[in-house]
Amino acid sequence: MTGRARPAVVVAATPTPNGDLHVGHMAGPYLSGDVYARYLRANGRPVIYTTCTDDSQSYVVSTAHRLGTTPEQLVETSTAKIERSLRAMGTLMVGLPPIDDRYRRTVLDHVADLHAAGRFRSRAVRLPYAENAGRFLYDGLVSGTCPVCLVGSCGGACENCGHPNNFDELIDPKYTIDPSDPVVYRVQTILVLPMEEYRDRLISYYASHAPRWRPHAKQLIGELLARPLPDVPVTFPGTWGIAAPFPETPGQVLYPWIEAMPASMYATWWAAGQVGQGGSATDHHWRADHDAELVYFHGFDNVYHWGLVDLVMLLAHGDKYTTPESNVCNEFYDLDGEKFSTSRNHLIWSAGSTWR
Ligand SMILES: [Zn+2]
Repeated sequence: MTGRARPAVVVAATPTPNGDLHVGHMAGPYLSGDVYARYLRANGRPVIYTTCTDDSQSYVVSTAHRLGTTPEQLVETSTAKIERSLRAMGTLMVGLPPIDDRYRRTVLDHVADLHAAGRFRSRAVRLPYAENAGRFLYDGLVSGTCPVCLVGSCGGACENCGHPNNFDELIDPKYTIDPSDPVVYRVQTILVLPMEEYRDRLISYYASHAPRWRPHAKQLIGELLARPLPDVPVTFPGTWGIAAPFPETPGQVLYPWIEAMPASMYATWWAAGQVGQGGSATDHHWRADHDAELVYFHGFDNVYHWGLVDLVMLLAHGDKYTTPESNVCNEFYDLDGEKFSTSRNHLIWSAGSTWR
């Protein structure tokens, strides 16, 4: 072989720190990502294999309430468990990066660049609101019926069919922490990422990349493209997460899924530093001119996010960043016909856990 071995960045879906990893996580993205990273390394390629906890997810809040603890405490104990499980598996990952000031600065710089470039739009949207709690509901804080497949679903995206439900689209919404709390709708002005504006580039991207995707994920992308692409919330009237830095949305936080790309860049930078491949710029390994092979590993429930939303987040920066060469998507393990789920407290945890 002559010349430079092409670098690779392998990212496994960012685990939510609302419990340990279970066998579905381990056998899904984390093990398969590790196998691919080892394959590349055995071929002489410089590889960064990484992930990052997504502490801002609302599932941290809902699970903490169910367990009678605080979100902060749940993040701390769960992160330690997840890290122990990944270590017990013996993956190439060097650990989980700290969610610290550099992490938050990376996220804020990333969204500030997009905001300055005029990529976000201001929209007045109708949002479910728990009257007694005085809280707007999204993602893990709301459950109802998926408007696409009519199966029970949380907010954001449906685990059954993979389709998104944003804003007021979930049918018969209930506040997960207190289902007896009356849910009404209130109009709020938030910032969104208008994915429809990227349709031409998305179609071109999928034409060259989706043939390598697994059939179920490819089918979902086809279904999503067959209708107008939704606006993704960039900010939300909430209290858990990173405060949104925009003048149009005082008192709002960044919608947690918006953090995934800068979080993955930060995780890559941190992991590279641990193995002596570090650079000064946090997004160095993701720059188009670095020409890394970027591959994601995630479950079917994340096809909408990792396969579409996060792609648009990268495309929104113009030609600055590389885009993933493939999304390797695993199906769920079932337990009595239901998906294995941390939020449902299915107790088949990884080897690093204490059995309870
Ligand atoms: Zn559905």
